[in-house]
Amino acid sequence: MNVLIVHAHNEPRSFNAAMKDLAVKELDMLGHSVQVSDLYAMDWNPVASAADFGDRSNPDYLVYALEQRHNHNQKTLAPDIQMELDKLLWADLVIFNFPIYWFSMPAILKGWIDRVFVSGVVYGGKRFYDRGGLAGKKAMLAITIGGQPHMLVRGGVHGALQDMLRPILRGTLAYSGMNVLPPFVAYHVPYVTGEERSMILEEYRQRLQVLDTLPPLQFVSLDQFDEKLNAIAMPSSGTRP
Ligand SMILES: Cc1cc2nc3c(=O)[nH]c(=O)nc-3n(C[C@H](O)[C@H](O)[C@H](O)COP(=O)(O)OP(=O)(O)OC[C@H]3O[C@@H](n4cnc5c(N)ncnc54)[C@H](O)[C@@H]3O)c2cc1C
Repeated sequence: MNVLIVHAHNEPRSFNAAMKDLAVKELDMLGHSVQVSDLYAMDWNPVASAADFGDRSNPDYLVYALEQRHNHNQKTLAPDIQMELDKLLWADLVIFNFPIYWFSMPAILKGWIDRVFVSGVVYGGKRFYDRGGLAGKKAMLAITIGGQPHMLVRGGVHGALQDMLRPILRGTLAYSGMNVLPPFVAYHVPYVTGEERSMILEEYRQRLQVLDTLPPLQFVSLDQFDEKLNAIAMPSSGTRP
């Protein structure tokens, strides 16, 4: 499998970076091809702006998504975006490796998604969820977090982990068509002992060994909706994730 690791930590000796390094080594040993986008090391520009486009379909008024489509078609996207988009399209699996910032991802990674998940390629029109442009690819979050497991459950002080990660898991990755594997979470990282951190790395190593067979999380299918995206009545309970 071709694996792209998008890594977003500002300290190369961090535990989070150790997870990235472990993944590179382990995936390579397992026979996968691995590329890494180390966003801080690359000095990645996270700001989506008019400077991203070598040509403009409308020079007077910027509609970012429309210019993404136009510039993708014209092959005039900024070189840094094109390079990352090529890696994204090369990958069968994308691992997003980052520390949780404010229930979410660091801004540098958000900006990678804003600029590289190009409209017309990744999504557009009714190409989303199981009809998204990245259908057939897998994604997984590998995250470090200050909180503890009991804080991140339904009824816990921060609510359920999956609710916290919903904008990423559902609104970004599943929306783009990717099969989203359950996140790997390294809890309470700054506060546990060195021994416990070594155990977390071992658990991550074991997770990396089963990526091929791990069942993805379940999200909606557009088959459950009509042309206007109204929900089609489901038999009996009709529950959807
Ligand atoms: C802006 C911001 C917002 C945040 N928001 C949240 C939030 O909403 N919710 C939340 O829970 N947390 C939050 N945090 C906390 C953050 O998620 C954690 O501090 C971070 O994920 C910890 O991971 P790290 O890699 O940065 O740890 P580090 O501090 O880099 O590492 C922890 C320890 O592990 C050691 N270490 C490094 N490599 C190894 C190794 N190979 N083996 C063993 N030990 C090693 C390091 O030396 C260090 O002592 C936030 C932090 C910031 C800065």
